[in-house]
Amino acid sequence: MTAPLLRPLTTTTWAWVHERTGWGYSNAGLIASGDQALLVDTQFTLDYTRQLLSEIAAAVPHARITTVVNTHGNGDHTWGNQLVDGAEIVTSATSAAHLCQEMGPGQLAALSRAEPTTAAHAYIAEHFGAFDFTGVQVLGPTRTFSGSESVNVGGVSVELMDLGPGHSAGDVAVHVPADGVVFTGDAVFNGSHMVVWSQHLSPCILACDQLLATGADTFVPGHGPVTGRAGMTGFRDYLERVWLQASAHAAAGVELADAARLVFEDQAGGWEHPERLFTAVAAAYREAGVDGIASGTMACVEGMAELAAASATCSASAGTTTMSR
Ligand SMILES: [Zn+2]
Repeated sequence: MTAPLLRPLTTTTWAWVHERTGWGYSNAGLIASGDQALLVDTQFTLDYTRQLLSEIAAAVPHARITTVVNTHGNGDHTWGNQLVDGAEIVTSATSAAHLCQEMGPGQLAALSRAEPTTAAHAYIAEHFGAFDFTGVQVLGPTRTFSGSESVNVGGVSVELMDLGPGHSAGDVAVHVPADGVVFTGDAVFNGSHMVVWSQHLSPCILACDQLLATGADTFVPGHGPVTGRAGMTGFRDYLERVWLQASAHAAAGVELADAARLVFEDQAGGWEHPERLFTAVAAAYREAGVDGIASGTMACVEGMAELAAASATCSASAGTTTMSR
């Protein structure tokens, strides 16, 4: 297990940030005041969630977590929900509606451990095989909201933002106006490329604009280090470059796999998992109305596995394994 860390951002907010930025290592957030606390997301496994809750108990021993906000339905942000006793679990209505389409822990564990028969299967085994999902029972929200909602946490006003579809079918961010802090969920990645599970890419750019419009100075992404306004703006502009390039390839009739390779060449940079660019390009192709673009988790994984293999072949033939951003 790597060494995650709960660290204070202000006197009432904390960020739980993994050192690793790869699949499954998701950040979480805490807002605590008086005897109340709000937790933004749990973890992928029960072990990681226990570690998170243990560090929270040490940091704010007098506060009880009364609310968990799930920024979206992916397991790396929700599969520890069952360990937060008595808390209400809140997410957006659009996020909750999509939960039934998420891959469950049993299915993911089985895929991760079986002998791979396809490139997509091997990709899952490589990136998820190290996680232990023993005991995970998927616990969905006890309450949903739409648009926005204010929550009072021990006198601290916390704004829940329904960002709509983007990274997932329904993304949520948590804004603490008095502290200038936003917990973005997977609307923002830092240090690894964004996965786009939803049907469209341009809403991801608009979500970044919404987050910047809060005026906050501190952004805790769903994965990777905490960043500021410059980092947020850089991420937003990266998404726009990907969208513009992918849309131009779609308009020119370039095949999706070829477009993904071309965008990869320009935008891979030094971040982890550049093969995730396939999902962003595919979303832009769907948005452009290109026929026959498969959607769904396995179609995305197949595309990422193929792009990872193609880029590895290119790097080997070029005699280099590094890229500059
Ligand atoms: Zn995530």
